[in-house]
Amino acid sequence: MTDVLIVIGIVVGLSFIIFTPIILYLKFGWFKVFYHDVLQWHEPIDKEWFNGCTFCSNCKYCGTEIMQDSQGNWF
Ligand SMILES: [Zn+2]
Repeated sequence: MTDVLIVIGIVVGLSFIIFTPIILYLKFGWFKVFYHDVLQWHEPIDKEWFNGCTFCSNCKYCGTEIMQDSQGNWF
């Protein structure tokens, strides 16, 4: 019985460690520097320009040139 509780404890603990940063990221934008490139969610700097068909900018965190899609997302 104790073994089962330990396993449950480990599983719950691990999911907590893995999901807490993701939830914080989604809710508050924390850890963006680490996650944004993995998930391809870049954030534009203040300066934007129109290249003829889409809005372009540079990523605030990694400096990559990014474009805005029709839904207003940057990638
Ligand atoms: Zn970026």
